Amino acid sequence: METMKTDNGHALIDLRDVVKTYETGAGGVTVLKDITLQVQAGEFIGVVGPSGSGKSTLLNMITGIDRPTEGEVFVGDAPVHELSENQLARWRGRNVGVIFQFFQLLPTLTILENVMLPMDFCKVYKRRERKEKGMHLLEQVDIAEHAHKLPSGLSGGEQQRAAIARAIANDPPVIVADEPTGNLDTGTANEVFALFEGLVARGKTMIVVTHDRSLSSRTKRVLHLLDGYLHRDENNGKWTR
Ligand code: ADP
Ligand code: MG
Repeated sequence: METMKTDNGHALIDLRDVVKTYETGAGGVTVLKDITLQVQAGEFIGVVGPSGSGKSTLLNMITGIDRPTEGEVFVGDAPVHELSENQLARWRGRNVGVIFQFFQLLPTLTILENVMLPMDFCKVYKRRERKEKGMHLLEQVDIAEHAHKLPSGLSGGEQQRAAIARAIANDPPVIVADEPTGNLDTGTANEVFALFEGLVARGKTMIVVTHDRSLSSRTKRVLHLLDGYLHRDENNGKWTR
C-alpha cells in the first residue's frame, strides 16, 4: 500500500477532530462527535453503521457537500473545510467522484450527455475530445449501446453504471459512494461492486457506504459509525459486536 503523503504532509484523505452539529428547531444535534481518520492513496474502505448514524454526513465532509462544525478536512492538497462554495465546486469536479443510491442522473439528458456533464463543467479535456472520452467511459462500464437513451430507458443497474462513468469522467483520484447498491438486486449489486474493485485495482481510492455485509467484507478496511464515533475494524469486514 502506498503511504505517500501529499505535498501538505497529510494522508490523501485526512480528517482531524471533525465535529458536525446540525441546528434544528429542538436545538443542536451532534451527528459526528470526534472523527479522526486517515485514508491512504489506493485504499478501498467500507463504511457501515445503523441508519441515522452519520454515514452520509461523513461522506459529505470528505466531498465538501457539507462543512464540519469543528475540525479539519484535507483531501489531496485541498483544505476542504476552508474552501469557498465556488472553490469547492471546481475542486470537487476534478478531484472527487460521487455515486448515490438513486443515481441522480439528469432525466432530460441522454446517458452520454450525463457522463459528459462533469467534463463540460471542468474543462479537463478539450471539447472535441469529450464525446469520444464519454463513449469510452460507457464502454468501460459496459453500457455503450445505451449512450443515446434517456436514463428512464435504462434499468437500475444500468443507470448506476452510467453514474459510475460520470463519477470517473474527470479521472478523480477519490471516489465515494453512498449506499450505491441499496436500490439494486443482489446480482446487479455484485456487478456494481466488481466495477469498484476494478477502479481500486487501477489505483483509485474508494470509500463505500453499504448496509450489505457481504459487500463491505470485500473492502480492505471497514469503518463502523456508531453514536457519532468511528470504530475501526481491520478484521476484513467482520463485525466486532
Ligand atoms: P446515515 O447516512 O448514517 O443514515 P445521516 O448522515 O444521513 O445518517 O444523518 C445522521 C443524522 O443527522 C440523522 O439523525 C439525520 O436526521 C441528521 N441530519 C442529517 N442531515 C441533517 C440536516 N441537514 N439537518 C438536521 N439534521 C440532519
Ligand atoms: Mg445515509
